[in-house]
Amino acid sequence: MQTAGQTTTLVVGAGVIGTAIALDLQKRGHAVTLIDRNAPGRGASFGNMASIAVTEFMPVSRPSVWLQTPGWLIDPEGPIRVSPRYAPRLVSWFLRFFWAGRPSRMRALEAQGAALCRRALADTQALMDDVGLGADLSQTGCLSLYASESEFAADRERLDMLDRHGFAYQVLDRAALSALEPEIAPVIQKAVLLPDNRTVRDPFALVSRMAEAFAARGGTIRRAAVTGFARAERVTGVTLDDGSTLSADRVVLAAGAFTARLSRLLDEPIPLETERGYHTQIADPGLTLSHSIIWPARAFMVSPTGGGIRVGGTVEMAGLDAPPDWRRAQITVRRARGALPNLRTDGATEWMGHRPAFPDTVPVISASARAPGVFYATGHGHLGLTYAATTARLMGQLIAGQTPDIDLNPFRVDRF
Ligand SMILES: Cc1cc2nc3c(=O)[nH]c(=O)nc-3n(C[C@H](O)[C@H](O)[C@H](O)COP(=O)(O)OP(=O)(O)OC[C@H]3O[C@@H](n4cnc5c(N)ncnc54)[C@H](O)[C@@H]3O)c2cc1C
Repeated sequence: MQTAGQTTTLVVGAGVIGTAIALDLQKRGHAVTLIDRNAPGRGASFGNMASIAVTEFMPVSRPSVWLQTPGWLIDPEGPIRVSPRYAPRLVSWFLRFFWAGRPSRMRALEAQGAALCRRALADTQALMDDVGLGADLSQTGCLSLYASESEFAADRERLDMLDRHGFAYQVLDRAALSALEPEIAPVIQKAVLLPDNRTVRDPFALVSRMAEAFAARGGTIRRAAVTGFARAERVTGVTLDDGSTLSADRVVLAAGAFTARLSRLLDEPIPLETERGYHTQIADPGLTLSHSIIWPARAFMVSPTGGGIRVGGTVEMAGLDAPPDWRRAQITVRRARGALPNLRTDGATEWMGHRPAFPDTVPVISASARAPGVFYATGHGHLGLTYAATTARLMGQLIAGQTPDIDLNPFRVDRF
C-alpha cells in the first residue's frame, strides 16, 4: 500500500536478486511492487548449487581457461558445450570474453569480484536472519579436491588469488580429508578447505520466504510478464502482458538472463548471455556429506541440501529457448561418482537453469545510461545467490542517492 509522498518502485524479476532488492527498498520506505511472470524463485534461483561461494570470484575468462577451451569443446563430456546452432550468435560475446580476460585486466576484474565476496557471507547471514531462516546457512565450508599434485598445481592460481585478497583456506592431506568426509574416494589425495563457502539449505525456500516477508510487510507481488515500458522524459512505468500499465518513480530490471530482452526495448543493448547449468537432486543418495565439494579438474560440485544431495555444474551455451539436454546433468553425476563411489541416484530429479552472464564475469549494478528512472541488477553469473544480499544493499544505496559501500563504477551498464 502506498502512502502520500512515498517513492514508488517496480522491481521486475522475483529471483533471488530482485526479491532481495525489493526487501531492501521496502526497508528504505519505498512502496514496492515485485513483478514476475512466474511464482518467486522459479528461475535460476530455484535450483542453483546453494553455495555462498565467497572464494569463487576468479574471472571466468582467463588465459588458463582459454588454453583448455578447445579441448573441452571437442570433448562431448567436457565442462563447456557450445550448441553449433547457437554458436553464430555467440561470436561477439566470445570476442568480448577473450578481450576481458587479457592479462592486464585480470587483477582489476578479480578485485571487483573480491569486493563483493568480502561482504557476501555477512550480508547473506543478515538477510537470512531477517526473514527467519538464519539457521538454514550451514556452518561448514567447501572442500576442493585433487587427485594428484599436478591437479593441485593447476589450481594454484586460485589459491594465489585468495592470498592476494586475504580469503581463508587450509590445505588438507588425505588423512585430514578422511576425518572430515569419510565418503570421499581414496583417489583423492589432497584437498583445500574453504571454511567460508557455506551452503544454504534450500535456495528456492529462501526466495519464497523472502517474498513472503516482503508481502507480509506491505509489499505487492504481481504475477505478469513485463512486455514494454511507459516513457516520457523518463521511464514512468511498465506495460504488462495482460494489457495493463503500472506506473512508478523507479523501475529496477532484475530479470536474470532475460534482462537483455527488456533492455533492448529501452535501446540499451547489453552483452548478456545465458550460461545454462544443470542439477541432479538425489533425495536418497545412500551417503551423507557435511561439506559441499568441488573437484576443479572434473568441473562439478556436490552440495548437501535440505532435500538430499545436489550434483551440478557444467556450462552450456545454447541460448534462452533451446530445450534442456539432460545428458549434461548425467555427465556431472558420472563425474561426481569418481569422488563419491557410493552415491546412489535412484529417484533423482533433474533441472536446468539460466545463469545470467556478462563476458567479463562482473555483474551490472547500475543506473541505466539511456533511460532515466531505470536501474539494472543482473549478470551475476555463477554467483547470484552469493551476491544477492550485497547487491540488494548496494542497489538500495544507489537508488537512495547514498554513497555505496563499494565503488560501483566497475559495475556500470555502459562499461562494454
Ligand atoms: C546449475 C547452477 C548452479 C548454480 N550454483 C550457484 C551457487 O552455488 N552459488 C551462487 O551464488 N550462484 C549459483 N548459480 C547462479 C545463480 O543461481 C544465479 O546467478 C541467480 O539465481 C540469478 O538470479 P536472478 O534473480 O538474477 O535471476 P533468476 O533467478 O533467473 O530470476 C529472474 C526472474 O525474472 C523473471 N522474468 C524474466 N523476464 C521477465 C519478464 N519479461 N516479466 C516478468 N518477469 C520476468 C523470471 O521469471 C525469473 O523469475 C548457479 C546457477 C545454475 C544454473
